[in-house]
Amino acid sequence: MQTFHSQLLNKFSKLTHTFTTINDGNLAFHVDDDETNVIKNHKKLAQKLGYNIETLVHMKQIHSDIVKVVSDEDNFKNLPTCDAIITDKKNIPLMVMVADCSPILFYDPKKEVIAVAHAGRAGAFAHIIQNVIDTFTQEFHSEVHDIVVSVGPAICAECYEVGEEIYQEAKKRKMEYALTQTEEKYHLNIRAILQKQLREAGVKERNFEISAHCTKCHSDFFSYREDKKCGRFAGVLMLR
Ligand SMILES: [Zn+2]
Repeated sequence: MQTFHSQLLNKFSKLTHTFTTINDGNLAFHVDDDETNVIKNHKKLAQKLGYNIETLVHMKQIHSDIVKVVSDEDNFKNLPTCDAIITDKKNIPLMVMVADCSPILFYDPKKEVIAVAHAGRAGAFAHIIQNVIDTFTQEFHSEVHDIVVSVGPAICAECYEVGEEIYQEAKKRKMEYALTQTEEKYHLNIRAILQKQLREAGVKERNFEISAHCTKCHSDFFSYREDKKCGRFAGVLMLR
């Protein structure tokens, strides 16, 4: 697969977006990959999507629920430490990197605001989606019913086996609906959690989509569960 787009975001002419695939190469500097190779992949992607690599804002992702509004200091070399970024600036591409966690792209077409978020188990447990939606409404005066959300390829429940500890933690958080137990094994459905949180946040049913593509089942995407030394693919979103 060369490119992977959101059907929902495709219809907005003021947006540039993509979910990269394994063909775009590894985009993360913190994994075991040659820096010149990572920069080469970034340059290729910037050319393909039509942005200046220096203006790209990515994140030092820490599995938190922290959302940051993009500042003038943020750029390719100076990245914020958080798991979601939001902006109304034009021609500033936002990037979230993943391998099994969910890359989430947000867009308010009325107020012209975009955000990207990283939600793995920790982000899902910490309700990062709600934090992003709150930042839209509080900082940019968005109405939640206008916000469109695309959750990209991530690990499926069948591939996401978790231990007793996580099973108990999910139960404590009243997320039993996302748990399945088969014999001695537990599985956690992160998509089901994100879907519930999107609904509870007030995002309209017609305004969100959750990709059915599993990063571990499909070889088109990097998967940490498949290979601990893997690279990272990305969700990219830019206002034009
Ligand atoms: Zn799978």
